[in-house]
Amino acid sequence: MSILGSVVIGAGQAGLSASYHLSRLGIGHVVLDADDEPGGAWRHRWDALTMRDVHGVAELPGDAPPPRDAQRANVAVPAYFAAYEKAHRLPVVRPVRVDRVDDEDRVLVVRAGEREWRAKTIVNATGTWTHPFLPHYPGMETFLGEQLHTIDYPGPEHFLGKRVLVVGGGASAVQFLGALAPITDTLWVTRREPVWRDDDFTPEAGAAAVALVEQRVARGLPPQSVVSVTGLMLRPQEREAERLGAYAARRPMFERIEPDGVRWADGSFERVDVILWATGFRPAIGHLAPLHLRSAAGGIQLDRGGRGTTAFADPRVQLVGYGPSASTIGANRAGRSAAKGVQRMLTAELAKTR
Ligand code: FAD
Repeated sequence: MSILGSVVIGAGQAGLSASYHLSRLGIGHVVLDADDEPGGAWRHRWDALTMRDVHGVAELPGDAPPPRDAQRANVAVPAYFAAYEKAHRLPVVRPVRVDRVDDEDRVLVVRAGEREWRAKTIVNATGTWTHPFLPHYPGMETFLGEQLHTIDYPGPEHFLGKRVLVVGGGASAVQFLGALAPITDTLWVTRREPVWRDDDFTPEAGAAAVALVEQRVARGLPPQSVVSVTGLMLRPQEREAERLGAYAARRPMFERIEPDGVRWADGSFERVDVILWATGFRPAIGHLAPLHLRSAAGGIQLDRGGRGTTAFADPRVQLVGYGPSASTIGANRAGRSAAKGVQRMLTAELAKTR
């Protein structure tokens, strides 16, 4: 079996950007994607999320960004990605869910069930959507109501007439409260006091937030999401929930879950019908475990003080959409950096064989 220059795993924003740049550099590669159709995580976002609701989806390299209109994000972005894959003839193979990547005699063997691809380098672009994070609280399994994670969010109508507890201090929790508080009874709990920003989200503020995540990745710590360090903002769609007091009535985390609700350490109790866990996601990198890339601190350390995309532990591996590049803008830039990293690696290898 021939050995490819690179295998890109994942065809979201990060994987498509990497593939575009690899193609431009003339590097033979395939892109393996677990989904049936284009769109990355955007295919799976809830129906009520429109292109106006998202904070902005960056353009793919060499293209214009998709319009900020009333279209559903889970339709508009997949259509945008599909057209892009076709226009640039990107070598995407799907559905292929990669189970593991092994290092065999200095060749990276990418395995998905019975199938395998052999490559000199890999670009991992698997995002976080397939790895939802659900914290554990005592009594969780005794709750008689409904527990949903962001990944299951069925849209606001589902919650009509129910008392909903939203858990989490990120942008998703803020958006859920914005949609739910005007139509039903809500409560909000977060582990930490939310940090609000009322200034415009400037490029400088964005860069400062990304720098915080880079510092963690440079130390090999598990990354936080970029969105989690930018601070929270209320958009016009959330003003009605604010007026109703949905954000001001925030409480700290409860201590335990009981069959009908949640109880705090001071003994106080709230009855709820639904617990909506807006508690985020973690990088979907389990298939890379055989390569032993994690540092003692639990994350994958990246080069250039966390600003690069090359894994410190193995420079044949590029990570895009990971840590500081886990946003559509970041994923875009990381794709270019990863393609260059692959090129450097292949050139160095060629020099060795001469
Ligand atoms: P994804 O889009 O998740 O793509 C990963 C791809 O990898 C998927 O197609 C998946 O099928 C595939 N895959 C996963 N595992 C495997 C495997 N083992 N084998 C093969 N394929 C695999 N960012 C912004 O910049 N602006 C926003 O407004 C914004 N809004 C957001 C709203 C929500 C609700 C969330 C959760 C995130 C939001 N983000 C936003 C973050 C942004 O969506 C992501 O950072 C960005 O889209 C990530 O792209 P990606 O290519 O890294 O991952």
